[in-house]
Amino acid sequence: MIELSQGKILVIGAGIMGTGIAQVAAQTGHQVALFDAKEGANLKAIESLTKSLENLVSRGKMSPELMQTTLQNIRPIQELSDAKDVVLVIEAIVEKLDVKRALFQQLETVVSEQCILATNTSSISVTAIANGLKRPQQLVGMHFFNPVPVMKLVEVVSGLQTDPEVANAIFTLSQAWSKVPVHTKSTPGFIVNRIARPFYAEALGMLQEQVASPFEIDSCLKSAGFKMGPCELMDLIGHDTNFSVTSSVYEANFYDKRFTPSLIQKELVDGGLLGRKSGRGFYDYS
Ligand code: NAD
Repeated sequence: MIELSQGKILVIGAGIMGTGIAQVAAQTGHQVALFDAKEGANLKAIESLTKSLENLVSRGKMSPELMQTTLQNIRPIQELSDAKDVVLVIEAIVEKLDVKRALFQQLETVVSEQCILATNTSSISVTAIANGLKRPQQLVGMHFFNPVPVMKLVEVVSGLQTDPEVANAIFTLSQAWSKVPVHTKSTPGFIVNRIARPFYAEALGMLQEQVASPFEIDSCLKSAGFKMGPCELMDLIGHDTNFSVTSSVYEANFYDKRFTPSLIQKELVDGGLLGRKSGRGFYDYS
């Protein structure tokens, strides 16, 4: 059995998901190295994490000691080679196959042969990311949901060549992080995103037809018992990421019309209106 409970972890991508993953890992006692290709992004992420943990402490939702340990356990690094001794890498970078592939190929030259390589991809085939790796059996999907510290589900995604022991180690680690993992095969969108795509698509279709406003759609769905409406959820996810996921699921389903990406969402991406992370999407957060 592969043991990950004490090991050092490298999180790559200090955006919405990487920051949340680093928090959860550090909170559970792991030493976490945080890397981002964009200069200063990891420092900015730690700064905003500090603010959000301070807020939790001030509301009595986290002890000051846990906040201190969590922050102490996260180390920003400038080079991937500064994290050679990790047992697990969790990648949370941009949702693009070629970029993820190139990163994992580079990582294989940095980390040990035993190191598990996990991708937080929402939709890209784990089998395809592993293509070209020297150790494709070490690659597995570890798909968290947003916001990571709050959402329990983790999809543990096995590609064609993933070693079942590797998938089991990620399953066990997710449980140790108080998550609820589920094993799944690498098929387009895995479980949740396969079902969620038509949910977003219907909302976007209604906007295109001017049936109702984002606020009206969200209000209706919430009154019907959903925790969030589709428009505010897309703003939370980030339209760039959501659009990439839809495009990837559409392509992976041989351009099945049900998964056609929306022009409305493309326009938001083109205009840099990415949702909460840019300050404006369907709603204004400034
Ligand atoms: P994000 O845009 O908030 O952050 C991505 C970060 O990766 C950025 O800081 C960027 O500078 C960095 N980056 C890009 N290319 C890089 C590279 N080659 N090397 C190192 N760093 C690089 O994106 P996010 O929402 O955190 O999404 C990250 C991944 O997680 C994507 O694969 C996405 O599909 C997946 N995901 C997102 C959500 C969500 O709700 N946003 C949920 C589950 C999974």
